[in-house]
Amino acid sequence: MTTTRPPTRRTSARTTARTTPDGPAVEVRGLRKRYGTKQAVDGIDLRVERGEIFAVLGPNGAGKTTTVEILEGFRRRDEGEVRVLGEDPQTAGRAWRARIGVVLQDSRDQAELTVAELVRHFATFYADPRDPDEVIDAVGLREKARTRTRQLSGGQRRRLDVALGIVGRPELLFLDEPTTGFDPQARRAFWALVRSLREDGTTILLTTHYLDEAAHLADRAAVVRAGQVVALDAPDLLGGPAARRPVVRWLEDGAWRSERTDSPTALVARVASRLGRPDGEVPGLEVARPSLEDVYLELIGDPAALPADGPADPVPPTRAPAEAPGTPDGTSAVVAEEARP
Ligand code: ATP
Repeated sequence: MTTTRPPTRRTSARTTARTTPDGPAVEVRGLRKRYGTKQAVDGIDLRVERGEIFAVLGPNGAGKTTTVEILEGFRRRDEGEVRVLGEDPQTAGRAWRARIGVVLQDSRDQAELTVAELVRHFATFYADPRDPDEVIDAVGLREKARTRTRQLSGGQRRRLDVALGIVGRPELLFLDEPTTGFDPQARRAFWALVRSLREDGTTILLTTHYLDEAAHLADRAAVVRAGQVVALDAPDLLGGPAARRPVVRWLEDGAWRSERTDSPTALVARVASRLGRPDGEVPGLEVARPSLEDVYLELIGDPAALPADGPADPVPPTRAPAEAPGTPDGTSAVVAEEARP
């Protein structure tokens, strides 16, 4: 994609950038967008409150970028109502644009400028910018301030993108897959930066493929599938209570079995009794609470998702090694672990 996009130079933001934050930051009703025969967005409803970090999750092609680009005013919708900071992005003017910050998936412009030059340059687009040096500090690039942007690592470039996105003191910041390609340490540091922006009162809407990113950062998350929101809640509540029921897995007759249940102890007792081993052990036994990733995969209809509710039925039965069932206890569990898909 292109670059981190500033508003047109010297907008009238001075008079509007800090208007009273009334109403939600984003309100979307019945949003639809079609490309030819492809219905990319198919009736999305969303409401992002002021001051929250809101994540949009979903598989490739789900319609996340299309939705966000409509909210940013970069793309026209076919149907639906959209309000971003109280205005329709399709008709909003420069003053509105100065109130939002946009960090796109990939930006590689102005390669010959240094970090400090570029942040200062962007600051001139706004009437009430943050201090560029403070912004460079905030994103952890002080030591790179005099480095040309083409010499930055991927993670450093991303931090610079965020610096450019926040230098205009936006009320609402869009982050499109902000930590793709980051190492774990850089990701943690970036999350701390995003949280500090929220503490300053910035509303943040991010798209991400990383479930742990949504879990760590987002107050609420929407899961989008085939252009529709299939779940919307705090990350640890997504999917509802039923989706968080524990799953018991075990090895029986050479196949993995699993069952979701509210009473795992009773289920394990039943299975142990049915297997009737002299030592009472259940081979390969594991009781696990579904992770956010498990819930997400189920929501998006991934065949690798956890079993549905109900009685034990291997879904699908995964063949264990032929020797596993007959091995003595202690070793069978190890074999089972190794054989797990
Ligand atoms: P990803 O996670 O891969 O970025 P996404 O959820 O952001 O995906 P979109 O980029 O919004 O999904 O795409 C939604 C659907 O619309 C996809 O099927 C995509 O191929 C299609 N699409 C997106 N942009 C265009 C376009 N400009 N012209 C035609 N089809 C498009």
